[in-house]
Amino acid sequence: MDSHAVKVARIASQLRAHTGTTPLSLRKKAVSHQVPKAGDLRHRDDKIDISALTDVIEIDPVRRICVAESGVTFVDLVTATLAHGLVPIVVPELKTITIGGAVAGCSIESMSFVHGGFHDTCLEYEVITASGDVLICTPDNEHALVFQMIHGGFGTLGILARLTFRLVPAKRYVKLVYEQHATLAAYQASIAAHAELRDLDFMDGIIHSPSLYVLCVGTFVDSAPYTNRYDWMKVYYKSTATRREDYLETPHYFFRYDRGVTNVRPSSFLGRLLFGKLMASSQWLRLAEKVHWLLPREKPTITVDVFVPVSRVAEFLEWYERELGHFPLWCVPYKRVHDYEWLADDYWKALPDGMFLDLAIYGMKQRGDRNYHRMMEEKLRELGGIKTLIAHNYYPEAEFWTIFNKPNYDAVKAITDPHNKFRDLYTKTCKAAMGIR
Ligand SMILES: Cc1cc2nc3c(=O)[nH]c(=O)nc-3n(C[C@H](O)[C@H](O)[C@H](O)COP(=O)(O)OP(=O)(O)OC[C@H]3O[C@@H](n4cnc5c(N)ncnc54)[C@H](O)[C@@H]3O)c2cc1C
Repeated sequence: MDSHAVKVARIASQLRAHTGTTPLSLRKKAVSHQVPKAGDLRHRDDKIDISALTDVIEIDPVRRICVAESGVTFVDLVTATLAHGLVPIVVPELKTITIGGAVAGCSIESMSFVHGGFHDTCLEYEVITASGDVLICTPDNEHALVFQMIHGGFGTLGILARLTFRLVPAKRYVKLVYEQHATLAAYQASIAAHAELRDLDFMDGIIHSPSLYVLCVGTFVDSAPYTNRYDWMKVYYKSTATRREDYLETPHYFFRYDRGVTNVRPSSFLGRLLFGKLMASSQWLRLAEKVHWLLPREKPTITVDVFVPVSRVAEFLEWYERELGHFPLWCVPYKRVHDYEWLADDYWKALPDGMFLDLAIYGMKQRGDRNYHRMMEEKLRELGGIKTLIAHNYYPEAEFWTIFNKPNYDAVKAITDPHNKFRDLYTKTCKAAMGIR
């Protein structure tokens, strides 16, 4: 097995050898969790092969710190750390999301109400620049701005090779209690109370309809009277509307949505019986990548999540119900633990809230002539919300850079990719991903 240093040297030499003008993107071992798009130009890019970066390098159970390569998937990471009675602090719900992708693409989950994103649990990044130099970046060394901007950089500011991050003690099971609320006001009051009291380990929820808001509150426990798993016939999000409580083994809790969050496929009982065991999120995404040219260019099905400041959620949902009306929604409370350097300074100055509600829309068919993605971009701008960049993006460039922080972005780009081999953030997420040259 090659050492980490040998793998890094090999990636650096691929970068140094690249002299052409074709943009670069990454070839990982695990499938990508960007929303598949019909004309995404990255399929034609020259590739830097980082598929060897899949090792957990060190777990220090005393300091509760892990060092791992960027291509380690969360399912492998949870297995490795649980052997020491520990888990990563933020574990995105799909098994094959990688730790590098989680930082570059801003992953979140049900511990985010305390800890923010996976990035916020990280202590150090090793970054390979486009010219093949290796930088060690921490929140307080000379590369502090690189450390912060790699988060949400979508691979345009260099390659994450190795990450050092914190772990927390875990128990064998997670007990879930499903609180049903009939109004948004009651739902939000409960979220705020739990966040204040810190009386649980996990919090997310499903808004089944404008009159059924379920908050899923989870706590680590040592024993369980029974357990359920949702990796074949049973559908997790549906269970939250019918059950009052549940017990899951800890890995099954983390990956309870791996068959799809609110758009579980196959959707029929028979389909799941025949294919449900074989087809999890990775297999569907791999298939979509292979036949990406078959996906619709016009009116793609919506898969997106949006961050709404808690004080504006009522206004957003009132608008959403009227204009889009697609339910259920997955929701994740997300604490403002750090004013991210990749968002414009003016954005943070205007924001009074200390918490966001991340709302995820999965599998909404677009109707009529309206561009629902663009409508959300405009509404969120009005309400101080943020639409994540993993889906279809329609921002005009000038507007994009009023939301994202161009001075910080340019300062880091000048260090890590001065010849723009990885494209810039706007070009990658709003043009190339949309098939626009
Ligand atoms: C259907 C679907 C469901 C999702 N569900 C969830 C969920 O439940 N919870 C959640 O938190 N998120 C979810 N996401 C979003 C997901 O967390 C992000 O898209 C994340 O970035 C995916 O990571 P990945 O490892 O698949 O990376 P990729 O998708 O391969 O890459 C994401 C971006 O990061 C860059 N990148 C990847 N690796 C590196 C690296 N080593 N160095 C530098 N840049 C890199 C890529 O260039 C790309 O721009 C979902 C996305 C989809 C499409």
